[in-house]
Amino acid sequence: MTQKFDVVVIGGGPGGYVAAIRAAQLGLKTACIEKYKGKDGKTALGGTCLNVGCIPSKALLDSSWKFHEAQEGFKVHGIEVADVKIDVPAMIERKAGIVRNLNTGVAGLFKANGVTLLEGHGKLLAGKKVEITAQDGGVEVVEADHVIIASGSAPIDIPPARADHDVIVDSTGALEFQSVPKRLGVIGAGVIGLELGSVWGRLGAEVTVLEAQDKFLSAVDDQIAKEALKIFTKQGLQIRLGARVTGSEVKNGEVTVFFTDANGEQQQTFDKLIVAVGRRPVTQNVLAADSGVSLDERGYIFVDDQCATSAPGVYAIGDVVRGPMLAHKASEEGVMVAERIAGHKAQINYDLIPSVIYTHPEIAWVGKTEQQLKAEGVAVNVGTFPFAASGRAMAANDTHGMVKVIADAKTDRVLGVHVIGPAAAELVQQGAIGMEFGTSAEDLGMMVFSHPTLSEALHEAALAVNGHAIHIANRKKR
Ligand code: FAD
Ligand code: AMP
Repeated sequence: MTQKFDVVVIGGGPGGYVAAIRAAQLGLKTACIEKYKGKDGKTALGGTCLNVGCIPSKALLDSSWKFHEAQEGFKVHGIEVADVKIDVPAMIERKAGIVRNLNTGVAGLFKANGVTLLEGHGKLLAGKKVEITAQDGGVEVVEADHVIIASGSAPIDIPPARADHDVIVDSTGALEFQSVPKRLGVIGAGVIGLELGSVWGRLGAEVTVLEAQDKFLSAVDDQIAKEALKIFTKQGLQIRLGARVTGSEVKNGEVTVFFTDANGEQQQTFDKLIVAVGRRPVTQNVLAADSGVSLDERGYIFVDDQCATSAPGVYAIGDVVRGPMLAHKASEEGVMVAERIAGHKAQINYDLIPSVIYTHPEIAWVGKTEQQLKAEGVAVNVGTFPFAASGRAMAANDTHGMVKVIADAKTDRVLGVHVIGPAAAELVQQGAIGMEFGTSAEDLGMMVFSHPTLSEALHEAALAVNGHAIHIANRKKR
């Protein structure tokens, strides 16, 4: 007999598994289909984020940062450590252990909430039927009142540098190196390229990042991006802007990359090459021709602001739809859709999705950049506070970067918070909370912040918007 569910979710990443859990919490009979297998051959929930994305990359960023600190950062504190070594396989195994723990955690949450896991490849048929093909080829069809597609994204492969998964790897391969490459090339100075370049650079690789665009981090506030380029270059990352990769050749275990830049044709040879030029939505073999779900012109599943597709009762969330490819955006869409299916009112504030680049210093932002606001003709007041003037940052010997608060010149409402520096991700979240409640720079300035904290830099930047900063000379006095 055909199994019938209130909700069937295709994909168990942070979009899909969160949607499934929330739907089940709301009393809906829910199933989630997942095809991904971990190294042990068992179905592993959590998607890109948990298995080959956010979590493993942060595990390696944290390990490599500790190594870097032991080698370079301890001295200044008067701590001498002789002969610091890195055991790369042990570092990679620690990361794998965290992933396994979290896989088990999500499976446990499915059990606790009564979500049925259907193992295999899901495909949406007409009439909200979903076909599931198991690894052994067995096919089952289930019916649903509502379907949520959360099939996520995959790395983009570019013809000039196709991954051979040995010398030329994608982000997944770059999380698995068993030794530190001497010369590491990275194509793409985006979030993933910079994070993975940082991991291996801290462990001793000579890292060259080739970026086609002339502008560094074009989505980031110009002032912050400029500061980032300065700091990363000082750290030893060679960032070559305006460098478009046109070809590559793998020979004798190394790869020569051909690219053009302002000086003409160039080439450089590496021991490993990471291709990090972006990700594409996964829609192949997910939708039957008569499913009624259409794609947009860029190949994403077309959805409205509430993630409804062109087929009634079918929703799509996360990386497979428009918007930033971020785990928290996927999860919040999952919650919104589950709640709407259950008859609740729910909406995401797409204007306030924070972004983070987990380099050191971290870069994080929420709201609009100064250049965006200028282009929109919005008059703004800007306050900045450098970590070099923060007692807490000095105590930690971590004084690079700044907090920047941008407020509407007429209303003082905060329109953007941008941070490069220690704990930037956490600081920006405070800005996001304030902005969700319509905070003004004055409101943030009137709040009491604990001393000594890095958060005081946010307080001071907010005060600086109106020329009231205490611990730095104000650009304008009021
Ligand atoms: P995914 O996580 O891609 O999950 C989709 C799931 O669906 C997968 O498990 C897949 O196997 C399954 N699936 C696909 N098709 C089918 C099918 N037909 N049948 C059954 N199952 C199917 N984001 C952040 O917010 N913060 C970070 O720090 C961060 N770091 C990242 C680092 C790296 C190296 C990478 C690659 C990504 C990172 N991201 C980060 C992005 C983040 O991982 C994604 O935005 C997020 O995973 C998207 O969630 P999703 O549920 O939409 O899709
Ligand atoms: P993101 O989309 O944030 O993951 O960043 C990917 C980066 O890769 C973008 O900044 C692109 O400009 C860059 N990129 C894409 N194709 C190439 C190429 N052929 N050579 C160099 N950089 C590229």
